[in-house]
Amino acid sequence: MKRFLAPLLALLVGGSASAADWSTVTTAAPGPAQSIGFYSAGCLQGAQALPFDGPGYEVIRISRDRYWGQPVMLQYIQDLAAKIRTAGQAPLYIGDIGQPRGGPAPNGHASHQIGLDADIWFERQPGPHRPPADRENPRLRSLVRADDSGIDDTVFNQQHVLLLRLAAQMPHVDRIFVNKFIKQRLCETVGGDRSWLNKLVVWAGHDEHFHVRLHCPSGSPRCQPQAGYYKDDGCGAPLELWFTHPPVKLPPPGTPMPPYRPKLPAACTAVLNAP
Ligand SMILES: [Zn+2]
Repeated sequence: MKRFLAPLLALLVGGSASAADWSTVTTAAPGPAQSIGFYSAGCLQGAQALPFDGPGYEVIRISRDRYWGQPVMLQYIQDLAAKIRTAGQAPLYIGDIGQPRGGPAPNGHASHQIGLDADIWFERQPGPHRPPADRENPRLRSLVRADDSGIDDTVFNQQHVLLLRLAAQMPHVDRIFVNKFIKQRLCETVGGDRSWLNKLVVWAGHDEHFHVRLHCPSGSPRCQPQAGYYKDDGCGAPLELWFTHPPVKLPPPGTPMPPYRPKLPAACTAVLNAP
């Protein structure tokens, strides 16, 4: 019986490894890039680090060490940044992608675990790139008024609309999470081709940044896709629901959160423990 015990134990340990375990690893797991599991319960083998600066973007909060992702995600960010630069907009702030081996993080996100999620901020700073040390606590304004009563039109502008359109129309995008007021404003004002609104999925928060989620890439057979979302532009009943019976409410800022310990696929044990 004993020989069955070790794999079983490994599975249990892998399934309940704490976020602290994942956040203390500083290198990628060797091997080809593979997303294993689901966006909110998985890990990443063969992650690559996004260079801290590139044409049209800069990574912020570098000390968090969450600039690791699937190559397809890094390419997505670089391609979007190039389009934004061509459009004459200031460089994008890139926030969290994932930890060096993905997995749950000790604070903040439930997702961002398989290298296919990225946070891109609405805030920008025109002019030359700043040194990384100056990017730890940048001003990150919300597009929503502080009393949560609607869009803050002193911040929101057409550059944000173009940014979201370009981001939604890029290849590989599964969905983009935005605040209900942002979706509502776009639903009310976007003319012409509205097909890209389909990709903008309402979620709580997401008023200072939007969250891009890419499809499981080829070469990651153990990546678990997410079910589809809106059948149309999502401007009708699904949006209305967020104003009448919000499916998710965020706790007030500063509320202590219980540690998030998702059950990870057994294969993530090897990813966490690889030299
Ligand atoms: Zn996010």
